[in-house]
Amino acid sequence: MSAPISATASAAAPAQAGRRQVLVTSALPYANGQIHIGHMVEYIQTDIWVRALRMHGHEVYYVGADDTHGTPVMLRAEKEGITPKALIERVWKEHKRDFDSFGISFDNYYSTDAEENRLLCEKIYGALKEAGLIEARDIEQAYDPVKEMFLPDRFIKGECPKCGAKDQYGDNCEVCGSTYQPTELINPYSVVSGATPIRKTSTHYFFRLSDPRCEDFLRGWVSGLAQPEATNKMREWLGDKGEAKLADWDISRDAPYFGFEIPGAPGKYFYVWVDAPVGYYASFKKLADERGIDFDAWVKPDSTAEQYHFIGKDILYFHTLFWPAMLQFSGHRTPTNVFAHGFLTVDGAKMSKSRGTFITAQSVIDTGINPEWLRYYFAAKLNNTMEDIDLNLEDFQARVNSDLVGKYVNIASRAAGFLIKRFDGRVQDSAMHHPLVGQLRTAIPTIAALYESREYGRALRTTMELADAVNHYVDAAKPWDQAKDPANSVALHETCSVSLEAFRLLSLALKPVLPKLAEAVEAFLGIAPLVWSDAANPLSSEQPINAYKHLTTRVDPKQIEALIAANRESLQPGQEGAAAASAASAASSKAAKAVKSKEPEAEGTISIDDFAKVDLRIAKIVDCKAVEGSDKLLQLTLDVGEEKTRNVFSGIKSAYQPQDLVGKLTVMVVNLAPRKMKFGLSEGMVLAASATDEKAEPGLYILEPHSGAKPGMRVK
Ligand SMILES: [Zn+2]
Repeated sequence: MSAPISATASAAAPAQAGRRQVLVTSALPYANGQIHIGHMVEYIQTDIWVRALRMHGHEVYYVGADDTHGTPVMLRAEKEGITPKALIERVWKEHKRDFDSFGISFDNYYSTDAEENRLLCEKIYGALKEAGLIEARDIEQAYDPVKEMFLPDRFIKGECPKCGAKDQYGDNCEVCGSTYQPTELINPYSVVSGATPIRKTSTHYFFRLSDPRCEDFLRGWVSGLAQPEATNKMREWLGDKGEAKLADWDISRDAPYFGFEIPGAPGKYFYVWVDAPVGYYASFKKLADERGIDFDAWVKPDSTAEQYHFIGKDILYFHTLFWPAMLQFSGHRTPTNVFAHGFLTVDGAKMSKSRGTFITAQSVIDTGINPEWLRYYFAAKLNNTMEDIDLNLEDFQARVNSDLVGKYVNIASRAAGFLIKRFDGRVQDSAMHHPLVGQLRTAIPTIAALYESREYGRALRTTMELADAVNHYVDAAKPWDQAKDPANSVALHETCSVSLEAFRLLSLALKPVLPKLAEAVEAFLGIAPLVWSDAANPLSSEQPINAYKHLTTRVDPKQIEALIAANRESLQPGQEGAAAASAASAASSKAAKAVKSKEPEAEGTISIDDFAKVDLRIAKIVDCKAVEGSDKLLQLTLDVGEEKTRNVFSGIKSAYQPQDLVGKLTVMVVNLAPRKMKFGLSEGMVLAASATDEKAEPGLYILEPHSGAKPGMRVK
């Protein structure tokens, strides 16, 4: 795994002239599923931009987080028999692993379920309330009388009122495509319990987006958006002046809900879409606290720092209306810009599980496909519009093989051999003034500017045209012929030196897209990490290059077959959630064996990842009682640092008197699926030691940590 590169700037460094301060985010992935390559388009797009800016020496921070709150996470955790916190912790690790593998260089990757986020949400809400922009209102909503919860639209199904198709969601029909209200469904039922929803009234809190102050502000703000498509969309939503098209935004949800409780409103929680964008700031706050960055200076209304959000076009509404309005009226600066991109299709169609094109990030890694190849391919297709982009798997192989291997890497492999063998690995200094080198050098600022304007496709086309020119030069000079006659030694030295310097400049041009490859090139050439100003800093005879090791390989068609197989095999009927996820990774490692030999796992051992699945915590036994009717069990009440205590039945009665355990610390498995027992629900397990042959050597000893451990601490 590649370690994320560190920020180029130290917070303590004095601001230099022309040195910009830039905060960048990608949308937060939801914490109930795996990262797939459709998500990756956005992270790769953002990461390339961030890296290109860092290469100018600007102070750039790229932050992200998992979006953790809401009903789907709550229900998924319940289904898996774990707490929402255990679920989001597991998913966070999976997401982080995928981002690291794809070279996504977050300065901080956080979670919206964090104290910084709670405080920021409360502060923003308080300010909006103070400004008279929050209103309480009673509304009627679908309610599941069995599960005792209000139902979001996606959790109600029934027959389509238009075409009669069964099992359609509450907002639209997937058969005939019509949209409607959940109340219009025929024979509606709750997806959670199957019960018929009833109507129930509850008080909700609204952000008064219809307030003239909000509308006026947004009309002004829209003019600053970079993308005409976004501006047009916003104008459509805003309507003409006086049309009052903006509706107030329902920002609360009723318990049970996994999220932050609204201050002064018991049982009411912030809707997940309130705390998700605030999560950008929470992640930055955490980073700022760690690095000594002045957070307030970056987020105050007159801040000179820049703030950009990369998002998918489907969440434009939240980022161009709600989020800027929340910031504006809570005493914060507003985003400098929002950059939306289109969706990913694979082979011209929507990603599909049955076709094996719903490709997870993990399956890419398992199949031995270099994530940088995908970075290159996506970049070659990306521009600054919201157009969808297509991953054509045949074109992907052809382009990676022809561009990266055929055109680019080959330049180095051809030049390096002669330079090492004949010239002590040293370039000819006069060759650094060759016109071809000059042509590449002057193109670098243009390429850097294309990255900044998010025209990556054009940046890479320009780069590959230059690579073509270098290959023509080498083909015409014929170093393999020059090498035959010692009289041509100076000419051979020039050819190799020019092409190697050209290779260095091409590597500079490709660095935002291929950071790992660039690192290998820097090691090969014996140079410091490349930045844009190094265009004017050529190779020198004073620094010999190192022996050439191959820098990248071709895409093997077998890898593509394995990738499709891995993602198709994962779709087994009846598998959902964790089961499907583990099946997917099992299937993909199986498929991966075809192309990549994996370290066999020694029999009887488990990987660290397997161990990490067990969430062990320090628990304080706050109460302990005998269980009436059981001669084996004690009932323990345990504090594991959560809001509520846990109830656990443990078969340790033979060894302990209940009163002797009260107040003691022990170790508990907190993510064990809850078990319904005759005496009640057991929500975990405490750890105890016993002999292998308990009959021969009776005795039970519960584990106790050394002093200093506190309830909730992780045991690992
Ligand atoms: Zn229909």
